[in-house]
Amino acid sequence: MPRQLFVTTALPYANAGFHIGHMMEYIQADIWVRHQRMAGNVVHFVCADDAHGAPIMIAAEKAEKTPQQFVADIAAGRKQYLDGFHIGFDNWHSTDGVENHELAQAIYRDLRSAGLIKTKTIEQFFDPQKQMFLPDRFIKGECPKCAAKEQYGDNCEVCGAVYAPTDLKDPYSALSGVTPVLRNSEHYFFQLSDPRCLAFLEQWTQEEGHLQTEVYNKIKEWLTPNEDGVRDLGDWDISRDAPYFGIEIPDAPGKYFYVWLDAPIGYLASLKNYLGKIGVDYDAFMADPATEQYHFIGKDIITFHTLFWPAMLHFSGRKTPNAIFVHGFLTVNAEKMSKSRGTGLNPLKYLELGMNPEWLRYYIAAKLNARNEDIDFNPEDFMQRVNSDLVGKFINIASRAAGFLSKRFGGQLGAISPDGAGLLDIVRAKNEELQQCYETREYGRALREIMLLADRVNEYVDQNKPWELAKKEGMEARLHDVCSVCIESFRLLALYLKPVLPTLAAQVEAFLNIPAMDWSAAAQPLGLGHAIGDYQHLMQRVDIKQLEALFEAPAQSAAPTVGAGASSLPQATHSGVATEHEQVGPKLPGGEAFAPTISIDDFAKIDLRIAKIVQCAKVEGSTKLLQLTLDVGEGVDDQGIAITRNVFSGIASSYQPEQLIGQLTVLVANLAPRKMKFGISQGMVLAASAANEKAQPGIYILNPGPGAQPGMRVR
Ligand SMILES: [Zn+2]
Repeated sequence: MPRQLFVTTALPYANAGFHIGHMMEYIQADIWVRHQRMAGNVVHFVCADDAHGAPIMIAAEKAEKTPQQFVADIAAGRKQYLDGFHIGFDNWHSTDGVENHELAQAIYRDLRSAGLIKTKTIEQFFDPQKQMFLPDRFIKGECPKCAAKEQYGDNCEVCGAVYAPTDLKDPYSALSGVTPVLRNSEHYFFQLSDPRCLAFLEQWTQEEGHLQTEVYNKIKEWLTPNEDGVRDLGDWDISRDAPYFGIEIPDAPGKYFYVWLDAPIGYLASLKNYLGKIGVDYDAFMADPATEQYHFIGKDIITFHTLFWPAMLHFSGRKTPNAIFVHGFLTVNAEKMSKSRGTGLNPLKYLELGMNPEWLRYYIAAKLNARNEDIDFNPEDFMQRVNSDLVGKFINIASRAAGFLSKRFGGQLGAISPDGAGLLDIVRAKNEELQQCYETREYGRALREIMLLADRVNEYVDQNKPWELAKKEGMEARLHDVCSVCIESFRLLALYLKPVLPTLAAQVEAFLNIPAMDWSAAAQPLGLGHAIGDYQHLMQRVDIKQLEALFEAPAQSAAPTVGAGASSLPQATHSGVATEHEQVGPKLPGGEAFAPTISIDDFAKIDLRIAKIVQCAKVEGSTKLLQLTLDVGEGVDDQGIAITRNVFSGIASSYQPEQLIGQLTVLVANLAPRKMKFGISQGMVLAASAANEKAQPGIYILNPGPGAQPGMRVR
């Protein structure tokens, strides 16, 4: 029996075009969907724009458009990305669609009937300058749980905490920069703290297959009471006051659903919209116990998808997801994407440069696994994998054999000897295992296995040397045999790569004169005498010039691709992909944005120690550097000589050597030694400076408070 699946990606927030993080998620889901279809399963793969909420309302106002028009203009720009990267959604809808209004209100009524909605008057931040209650995303401050700075009012992107904006420390309005005041307002809550909800979520989150282990381990913190018997999971505030672009709460004039209430319902709304188009009854489809429901999301929106969403569905009497598949973030050159630094990988620019979208699909797939680890786009690695693996190992198999077949044998395949048949058996035997890799989202492993098979085929080619056979008398039959083995191997490898490289696979199918392959095609070898078409080169190599152009910093005057007017606003991350938050509010601290968030584990890798500057001298031939001799508490060596560190520091513009001798400072003690013109530097002392030193000169070394001793660790 074919399976019946309903698959979504996270809904992108409709205030900007896509960035490379979105494309990663879509590629991950698209590969999975294509695999399912090749297995004969029926898949409905849908997405939608996440249209509601104050950020869009405010962006639309700035752009002098209605919110509806603003969202429609953003939506009109989606197709070029999706088509461009061969993402095969069946439907693209909007959370402002009529289906979503109806479904959100229906789910709310069902939750209310279940006794899980209550109201409470709360104090809420009001911007006295803008004269409106401030949406969570427009209040920033310090996370009450982990003290991370610059966090939004609804959840912390560092520790994942979900809280009320009033819990933030040192809050400010991101719209005006002023400190907001508190005013009263009646709000509606979904009672997640109800014992029924807790019992359900404890069970659901633990049930086999629903969540990845690391996701469960994270989420169970919310369900586990602390020593005082209190859980982090509290009732969820689902209402917002007018003015708000959203869905009205039934029987509550002037109140709207918080955007996060109706956003995931948008999955169902898009499905319903699609099923309407193809004449399938939505209610019957969702009521069918055979229907499986899967959501691909990023790790920043776990709480909404693994706690709130299943609870909303369950207690409104609806089907809960079969699994939530969580991926990590995509960094580019090990940095989070940043337009300002020019390090971002702009997907449209990639396409405009004529770069093959399937290179990117291949590269991303090669890096993905079933865990929610971050992956990095590294240009050199990208070029290496595409040129050496994809083109060098795979495409070349066809290019080496097809010419001989066309010229010498009329394009027809010949008889295959036992050695070739043995090789083909090995390649064919991987089919099940590779399907399993795709099923479990272990794409990186699948591609490694496929490239190992390609290596074996290439070994066979190198052993048999068709180009030499072609020159020898009486070797016609062997040449025909070897080339036929190559083409059949190539067909199998193209089949195995098809979920990742759908367009290339279609070109291969055309070249081989065969119908579209599904997984059963592995067991249907090309027959003796089957005629293939003329070989046309199937894939170019990456040209380094393309990569250089891709990462060239955009001109200052370059207009944003889409969403003009939204560019100065903070990006919501409903999309589940990391973006660097552009600065709003008064000014950039120290003239630069905060660096991307790191984990405490990342920080722990840096060994900071108190160091005493026992000697300091000018460096002959350098106007910038001072040479420091540092005591880091390492004692004396076996000859009784004090062990010190030699460090060159670019602080000569601000300090005379004698000023520093005897001072304590902070040393990065485990930095790899660096060979400089003047000697080896064994670490780095910490010093502060403005981003633009020319405009704001001055370098200031750090001094610890009184009592610190050389060698103490700074943590
Ligand atoms: Zn936090």
